[in-house]
Amino acid sequence: MPSFSSQNEAFLAHFGGNVLFNEPLAPYLAYQIGGPADILVFPRNETDLTWIQTRCREHHIPVTVVGTGTNLLVLDEGIRGVVISFTRGFRDIEILSKTETATLVKCGAGVAKPDLLEWSMQHSLGGLEFSSGVPGTLGGGIFMNAGTKYGCYADVLREFTVFDLQEGLIRYPKESFSFGYRQQNALRAGRFVVSMIFELKHADPTAVRAEVNRIIAERAEKQPLDFPSCGSTFKNPEGFSAGRLIEKAGLKGTRVGDAEISLKHANFFLNKGKAKAADILALIDITQRTVLEKFQVRLECEVVVMGGDGKLSKVYNSH
Ligand SMILES: Cc1cc2nc3c(=O)[nH]c(=O)nc-3n(C[C@H](O)[C@H](O)[C@H](O)COP(=O)(O)OP(=O)(O)OC[C@H]3O[C@@H](n4cnc5c(N)ncnc54)[C@H](O)[C@@H]3O)c2cc1C
Repeated sequence: MPSFSSQNEAFLAHFGGNVLFNEPLAPYLAYQIGGPADILVFPRNETDLTWIQTRCREHHIPVTVVGTGTNLLVLDEGIRGVVISFTRGFRDIEILSKTETATLVKCGAGVAKPDLLEWSMQHSLGGLEFSSGVPGTLGGGIFMNAGTKYGCYADVLREFTVFDLQEGLIRYPKESFSFGYRQQNALRAGRFVVSMIFELKHADPTAVRAEVNRIIAERAEKQPLDFPSCGSTFKNPEGFSAGRLIEKAGLKGTRVGDAEISLKHANFFLNKGKAKAADILALIDITQRTVLEKFQVRLECEVVVMGGDGKLSKVYNSH
């Protein structure tokens, strides 16, 4: 695999304290799993993105984006090239316009979903209740069209802006792409969400908070939140619940190394200590094979697998 260490000096000169080299990704990711990024960079603004674009194009350096890893399994080999995190810049939330019927709110991709939810309640705005208890950044949320049985981000999204490594910044109205169950067809390799505009509505903050608390309590009853996980490992196949299929297959509690299929919710695969990406992948393989054998249903990963030489991510991801 190529080494990109010849680029370190240039990155350091431009980014100073906002770039790290050969940096283990595990501490930045919800799973607490994942090998090193050659270059982990925290752009603060569009000038930084343009700098990365020029440098990486000129030197053929692959570029990847991570959020907070709440839906991401980075392989033990880590990620080659540049890994972008929007979690230090791109964190503004601002009201663009307000009428009786709609308030348009612009958010950076690095804003945490729970922070936007809290902000919306403080500003007497409703519409994001569906996202109660869903972690991660908004950028990751648009990538996955994250949601719950109460709704998804596409329901409140008006437009989003991406940074394309070939074309630079591009603004898209939501209607130009299709958003479905945990997917969209707007983003591809080399194209990252930098900001988005949501349409929210005036709402009684007490009522919104009550609903948010109700949903969070409902989730806490069903979900194992005391160990690192990526939430649901598999998408629900049409007409089935992935968790119920895994439970009916008798796989709850199955363990490989420190990776375990939760006893509380079978679609949650936990890191109970020092699990490796290889342990989680082994659990995924066992589960897919067993469920296929017993119920003739193919489980598709919701969790994104990333890193190494890229071959495994093709095996596990349909994104
Ligand atoms: C306890 C728990 C409960 C959860 N419950 C739910 C739930 O109810 N519903 C649900 O939908 N999800 C749920 N999730 C999964 C997760 O929270 C979401 O998918 C979330 O949107 C991922 O955001 P992230 O910032 O952590 O992205 P990451 O996990 O870091 O990345 C996921 C993918 O998004 C891409 N990505 C990240 N940022 C950007 C960007 N700016 N531009 C383009 N691509 C980007 C990454 O490259 C990667 O492919 C849960 C996770 C946990 C741990």
